[in-house]
Amino acid sequence: MADRIRAGEAKTIQLAAPISGYALDLESVPDPVFSQKMVGDGVSVDPTTATLRAPVDGKIVQLHPSNHAVTLETAEGIEVLMHIGLDTVELRGKGFSPNVRLGDRVKAGDVLIEFDIDFVALHAKSLLTQMVVTNGDRVAEYIQQSGMVESGRDTVLELVLTEPANAAETTGGEVVISEPIVVPNPSGLHARPAAVLVNLAKKYRSNIQLLRGDDRANARSVVALMGLQIAHGDRITLNADGPDAKDAILALTAAIRSGLGEAGASPAPASIAQSDLKSPPPQPKSSDPNLIMGVAASSGLAVGKTFRVCEQTLNVDEQGESPARERRKLEDAIAAAALEVESLRAKVHAQGNPGKAAIFAAHQEILDDPDLLDTATSAIDKGKSAAFAWQQTYSAQAERLSQLSNELLAQRANDIRDVGQRVLRILTGVEAIAVKYPTNTILLAEDLTPSDMANLDRDRVVGFCTLAGGSTSHVAILARSMGIPALAGAEARVMDLADGTPVILNGTQGTLRLNASEAELERTQLRIARQKSMRAAELQTAFEPAITQDGHPVEVAANIGSLKDAEEAVALGAEGVGLLRTEFAFMERPQAPTEDEQTGIYRGIAEVLGPDKPAIIRTLDVGGDKPLPYLPMPHEENPFLGERGIRFGFDQPELQRTQLRAILRASTKGKLRVMFPMIGRIEELRMAKAMLEEERQRLDVPPVEIGIMLEVPSAAIMAERLAKEVDFFSVGTNDLTQYTLAMDRGHPKLAPCLDGLHPAVLGLIDLAVRGASQHGIWVGVCGGIGSDPQAVPILIGLGIKELSVSVSTIPSIKAQVRSLDLARCRDLAERALTLETASEVRNLVPLEGD
Ligand code: PEP
Ligand code: MG
Repeated sequence: MADRIRAGEAKTIQLAAPISGYALDLESVPDPVFSQKMVGDGVSVDPTTATLRAPVDGKIVQLHPSNHAVTLETAEGIEVLMHIGLDTVELRGKGFSPNVRLGDRVKAGDVLIEFDIDFVALHAKSLLTQMVVTNGDRVAEYIQQSGMVESGRDTVLELVLTEPANAAETTGGEVVISEPIVVPNPSGLHARPAAVLVNLAKKYRSNIQLLRGDDRANARSVVALMGLQIAHGDRITLNADGPDAKDAILALTAAIRSGLGEAGASPAPASIAQSDLKSPPPQPKSSDPNLIMGVAASSGLAVGKTFRVCEQTLNVDEQGESPARERRKLEDAIAAAALEVESLRAKVHAQGNPGKAAIFAAHQEILDDPDLLDTATSAIDKGKSAAFAWQQTYSAQAERLSQLSNELLAQRANDIRDVGQRVLRILTGVEAIAVKYPTNTILLAEDLTPSDMANLDRDRVVGFCTLAGGSTSHVAILARSMGIPALAGAEARVMDLADGTPVILNGTQGTLRLNASEAELERTQLRIARQKSMRAAELQTAFEPAITQDGHPVEVAANIGSLKDAEEAVALGAEGVGLLRTEFAFMERPQAPTEDEQTGIYRGIAEVLGPDKPAIIRTLDVGGDKPLPYLPMPHEENPFLGERGIRFGFDQPELQRTQLRAILRASTKGKLRVMFPMIGRIEELRMAKAMLEEERQRLDVPPVEIGIMLEVPSAAIMAERLAKEVDFFSVGTNDLTQYTLAMDRGHPKLAPCLDGLHPAVLGLIDLAVRGASQHGIWVGVCGGIGSDPQAVPILIGLGIKELSVSVSTIPSIKAQVRSLDLARCRDLAERALTLETASEVRNLVPLEGD
């Protein structure tokens, strides 16, 4: 299309309709990103054809990997983005065939993209196709046509240009770099989130760049951002240079982390190491024909006979009656399904497990999801039956989720299928088949849904094994809470087993044994019976103190993250709280809890524990693998060695002081102690104590006991000198092990070698206990090995006085302590210190049943 010079010398560009159809205002587009012109100003066309053409001569500067959006740049530098349909990024390219490549030069009217109009109409929110100018600071006026237009022939938009806008200010400010941000949006930074980001960036005067590795883009340019093709899980950083750089980084980091307003965005994984696991974990495979391997999903042993569960096939007609009737049918079915889910939720809640009930609350949310309903409704409007439209919609959604590299999200696909199938059954009028399982059944299934699980006959089903899923699936969570041993991700050959095959399922090791001898079956039965009666006895004695056979008391306390955990711990016999990870109260929220909110939490915990049981409140331990979305953390090459734990508290003194005041205010309600994390140098301890003392004097409350986490090797080595200045030590073996062995605790490959029973770690604990005893202070352990039955006798032998353990293990650890003899534990510890490897140490303490 030719340019022309207008009277008044303003230059204009005419853009032809990119697609034939009915042109309308952007304001009419049912998507705020376009209707509020967040991407830019322009026009929308409701297409009658399936060919997108160039509206003007130019160069292709961006083609989205999903091929639903393309940008060309005119000779004047105007960027024209064309976006076919709404939410079409989610189609992942299906139905779109591009005719151009990045960098191609095109003439007005050339075909850019062809698409399957029926497929897109059925699967996308809308076919409305937008043409917008993304660098609108170059345009003074938009003159838009509406009504029927033909692509390549009719002008649909005329642009009156201005001089280029001023660039961002880069003078008079500082350069601020964000910490790494993991992109949570399932479809990456496509047009919608990119537009939101650009609009936010434009509020600041600084020059802001978005970086991924060596690639970078101006955060004020939608096209540049989309050009980077940032995908879900990509790790990016922001770099701002200018007078308001710090504020900009703070706001943009928080906005990206929260998904830039996109509903399906999952929170960025807490650990970046985890998000790097793009490929699925390798499938375990056994070379023994009698041993099938899988992932340990729920621990325990079961002996039984296999029974294969087959999915019910539901036949649906594709064509429906009138759209109004089909819409009504769908709404009624969803409402009926909601009632069913509610009664399941109530049923599991009544069984005393709120965790399980939460899974059905999540199902309730899926039923309420407006996107699912909208997509199904638009298919109904095109003549499909409610059942067909619903089946297509939920299956596509589940399929999309299951493709994601985020394991947690991928496993939620099963929940969508579960809910989807429930609605479909109601729509087709097919009753769920109620199978009567034989006694001692081990269920085999491609996958089980939470609904299948809630309806399991617990008296007959003793275990199950699925091809799908992993240890984080809802089914695995349910199995654990129901105490049913389970194996997930099993080798496919498991489905070849004939019903009634005798097997031994080991949910702790993640194996299924076939062709076991009679003697082996019998031995396993005996072990199961013994373990069952042991668990029952442990629960019965949970409130008795943990005193060794030779009269040595060991305090068994709980590691908690919330008031609810404290209640559970007390109900299971905890003698106190050895570690409150206060950071949980700071996470998953838009800003830090206020002093009053924190005081309320700590007071609540003190009240649950009563006047005699102590609670150790650890001050905020963020940084490393625990970022806080609303606080700027500097970019760190080695975050575990950077501003983590107490060091972060010094960097944000007001945050630290607010927390200290909250703990001190709550301390009048119970026996609260303060513990500082990541102390590596004595100066750090002194600074932290000085802050606490200043706040205490201001509040005029009595002193509290002070301790430190022993989790940095230097602190263990300096324990004797540190012991003079505190009331207790608590060994954080998770970190002490990572720092001693120089292995990232979140590293997927190194995980098997990261064992807190390594003699080097035990040597440091020994040193710490000796140092502490010189000044008469006690040492506890709150790291993971405190809950490990193989570590317990060794830790007690080393002189540990308190074990702070995960809540569910309290009764069994207390029972174990009662079975031990201090003299023998000392002997074990002495021998452990002389060994060379962690596995040699483990061999010293065989596990029950090994
Ligand atoms: C530890 O490091 O062992 C510990 C208990 O603290 P966290 O796991 O919270 O870092
Ligand atoms: Mg730690």
